[in-house]
Amino acid sequence: ALEIRNVHKSFGPREVLKGVDLTIGSGGVVAVLGPSGSGKSTLLRAINHLERPDLGYVALHGELIGVEVRGERLHELPPRAVRRQRTRIGFVAQSFNLFANLTARDNVAEPLVAHRRLDRAAARERAVELLAKVGLGDRGDAYPRHLSGGQQQRVAIARALALEPDLVLFDEPTSALDPELVGEVLSVIRQLADSGATMVIVTHEIGFAREVADDVVFIDGGVIVEQGPPSQVLDNPRQTRTREFLARVL
Ligand code: ATP
Ligand code: MG
Repeated sequence: ALEIRNVHKSFGPREVLKGVDLTIGSGGVVAVLGPSGSGKSTLLRAINHLERPDLGYVALHGELIGVEVRGERLHELPPRAVRRQRTRIGFVAQSFNLFANLTARDNVAEPLVAHRRLDRAAARERAVELLAKVGLGDRGDAYPRHLSGGQQQRVAIARALALEPDLVLFDEPTSALDPELVGEVLSVIRQLADSGATMVIVTHEIGFAREVADDVVFIDGGVIVEQGPPSQVLDNPRQTRTREFLARVL
């Protein structure tokens, strides 16, 4: 399970996360919605310790992320240890972030070579299997510039899955895509959800959230305003702020 406990984060005087608590069981899928600037990306970055919480902590399967307890305080883990922990957490960003000078296959193989010490041939073989899962088994030789945005994002998803992470984070994975390419990426994410992956998905795709999420979290001003199954949060929101947000985006 993923446990987020009382996470606070400020940038200078601005408190962006004001005590976020969230638990996701293994295989759980949580969709995070909220206005621009509400702290959604900061929350995802805090989960894999790209942002260090000022207060509170994140734990995955009981293991603290980025910190350890010494005495009564949390101390930052050394960078190597944090990097190792991050290999358990896949991350898919809005922009595809592929290596432009590597083929699709080598983009996916790269984490296997770097972190699993597979030889390049074995890593490439595994990469092609992963690409096949996202419908790109025959495009391994292509460089990112020769792929559509939707295809690039599917390569990025295959790469995020290469190390068989315990948790996959998506930060608006379709918001940089042309509308006609959104469906192919959502369908890959939906398959992943059906396969039992534990995921947090920041998205503005309300219909998709309704369909794949076990729980929807509405965040505004750095706090979770409302949280529950899609039938509640999306169809019968209790909070005025949630209702107003949904009225704007639907
Ligand atoms: P969007 O929907 O636009 O992606 P968001 O909910 O993901 O918004 P965040 O990116 O988490 O919002 O940002 C929340 C606030 O924190 C914003 O006001 C942003 O300017 C600020 N912020 C985020 N990262 C930093 C940083 N590294 N330094 C200073 N301010 C930051
Ligand atoms: Mg964001």
